[in-house]
This record gives sequence, structure tokens and C-alpha cells, in this order.
Amino acid sequence: MGVTKQLYQLQEVDSGLESGTQALSQIISRLGENQAVSNARSKLASEQQGLEELKHQQHSLEWEIDDVVAKLITAEEELYSGRIANPKELANLQREIDGLKLKRCQLEDKVLEVMEQVETNSATVSRLTNELETLEEDWRSQQQQLAADRERLEATLSELKHKRELLSAGIVSQAVELYDELKRQKGTAVAKVEQGICQGCRISLSGAELQRARGDRLSQCSNCGRILFLE
Ligand SMILES: [Zn+2]
Repeated sequence: MGVTKQLYQLQEVDSGLESGTQALSQIISRLGENQAVSNARSKLASEQQGLEELKHQQHSLEWEIDDVVAKLITAEEELYSGRIANPKELANLQREIDGLKLKRCQLEDKVLEVMEQVETNSATVSRLTNELETLEEDWRSQQQQLAADRERLEATLSELKHKRELLSAGIVSQAVELYDELKRQKGTAVAKVEQGICQGCRISLSGAELQRARGDRLSQCSNCGRILFLE
């Protein structure tokens, strides 16, 4: 095998290594990352807290109503017991009863309002809970997929590294040095020649250059300096 073909193979291995390494680092950055899940979790937590507060408010109002009702019963018993004969005292008692009834009415309106809010918030909490479960499930399966991809890629990369070692060991060291230097400078060191054109810089090669590229010895494009490879 000619040295340019060997170098071209080396370049293919290198480009596989580069894209594989890039893909691997993307996978690694996504492994363990769960921004969406933690956002959903904190949204749910704050919604749950709001719901707890509303329930607490509802219970306080219910206790308040019980209290007013108890007072009302006592006052009404007193009113109808016949123990009070004084008209002024009776009128006072009636006023107290009216006041308690009004207060009960107001508290009942309030508690109904709060109960409606509790209902709405409960629905939101259960919707968010479902959403979170779905997100967590998706996240888990995505993480499993990523872990599998990572394993597969790492195996591919280690195969490629091994292949590179074998390949570069079989190439004259000066050629590998030139390859490395060109790769560092230009990104790609070996350019294919297609229809007389260097695919590295898209310049037509002279007949002499093509002749040289066809030979066994290493030749470089006179324009871009890349190693020319003719299949
Ligand atoms: Zn060129």
C-alpha cells in the first residue's frame, strides 16, 4: 500500500476519533442533567404549599363558623327559655343573635370561596404530579439510552485508537510527522484528487503534479500544501 493511501486511512480514523469524541462529550454533558425535572418538581412543590395554606385557611374558617353557631344556639336558647323578661335585655339578645347570623353568613360565603380555590388548586397539583411523573419516566429512559450510547461510543473510540496505533506504526515516521503538522495547520492533511482537482483547495493540478501524485512517493499540492491522494 502506498504511503498516501496509508495516510488517507489514518485521516479517516482521525476524523472518526474526532466526531466520536465530540459525540461522547455531548452525551456526558447530558448524563445526570435533569433541569426540566427539577423545574417541574419545584413548580409542584410551590403549588402544593399553596394548597396546604388554602386548606389551613378553610379549616380555620370552619372552626370560626362552629364557634359562631355554638354562640348562636346558646343565645337562641336563652331567648326562648323565658328566663329573660326585661324587654331591653331581650332586644339586646335579639341584636346579638342577628349579629351572629350575619357573621355566620359572611363566614360561610368566605369558606365557599376558599373551598373553590382548594378544588382548583387540587386539580393543578394532580396535573403537575402527573406531568412530573411523565418527565421523570422520560428522563430515566433517556438516561438509560445515553448510558448505552456512551458505552457503545467508548468501545468504538478505543477500537479506533488501537487502529490508529497499528496504522501509524506501519507508516514512515517522517510521513506521519508531516501529516501531523499539516493536520495541525489546516485541519485536514490529506486531500483527495478528483478529476484533476485538489479537494483540499479546489485548484486544478498541473500535469506534473498529477504525475507525481500517481507515483508511490508522497507529494503535496503546490497551492495548499496538503498531501495529495489519488485513488
Ligand atoms: Zn490543494
